[in-house]
Amino acid sequence: MMNMPRKRLFMEYQIMLSEEPIDKYFALLDRRSKGEPLQYIVGSQEFMGLPFVVTPDVLIPRQDTEILAENAISLLKDRTFADGTKLDGKIRKNPDVADVCCGSGAVGISIGKLVPKAKVTLSDLSESALKIAKTNAQKNGVNAEAVQGDLFTPFRGRFRKKTFDMIVSNPPYVRSSVIPTLQREIREHEPMMALDGGSDGLDFYRRIAKEAPEFLRKEGLLLLEIGSDQKEDVEALLEQTGAYADIRCIPDLAGLDRVVFARKKVKSDFS
Ligand code: GLN
Repeated sequence: MMNMPRKRLFMEYQIMLSEEPIDKYFALLDRRSKGEPLQYIVGSQEFMGLPFVVTPDVLIPRQDTEILAENAISLLKDRTFADGTKLDGKIRKNPDVADVCCGSGAVGISIGKLVPKAKVTLSDLSESALKIAKTNAQKNGVNAEAVQGDLFTPFRGRFRKKTFDMIVSNPPYVRSSVIPTLQREIREHEPMMALDGGSDGLDFYRRIAKEAPEFLRKEGLLLLEIGSDQKEDVEALLEQTGAYADIRCIPDLAGLDRVVFARKKVKSDFS
């Protein structure tokens, strides 16, 4: 609020404040006491050690989601998962990566920052979220393309489809009936559009499982954040399409199922 570094705060603890900053301070406290998340009040949240601007137009990046970013990054760097397990095959020199339902852009932008050879495309249905994602790309010095549209539609191009070596997504996955039970901070302040995954929470996975292969290059990788009780359902949705191999789940630091991984099948996978 006063942009005072912590050091100065200790040195100048005895200064008397004027009315104005005191009023401002209490106004901020009021917002917090009405359940507004601290991150919207201060306007930022750190993710993967990087600064991100957040407004009520975007979901606040969660620490759990770092599992998604970390695995995407280590797979792009040397085709290993974050736990060191190796994945067969090669990764292209300058991989194209899409973050669909990007929100603040935290996942895609961290990938772009920490894997500079990757070319990142961010997409979101929400125009206002995409604006924040663009601000965040700039803030972190990442040269990402940002396109507005529903899931993969912005990649459909009039003449040519855009394809990727990796698609990552943290789509809305909360069951509609669960939303009223979420804590007030989330329920009353975070964008519903980023949370509501339909009646069984799987609406987006259903579409992604079906549509992603069209936008993945040969051996392209798909990484999806999931709710901790969605592993079986999401794996089954991917399985049913017959288009993926190496389907597996990656737990978060609390041991909860958090990311589902799949690789697009190549001819030799079909037997
Ligand atoms: N993990 C988020 C929550 O519990 C949900 C994020 C999402 O739907 N993608 O609030």
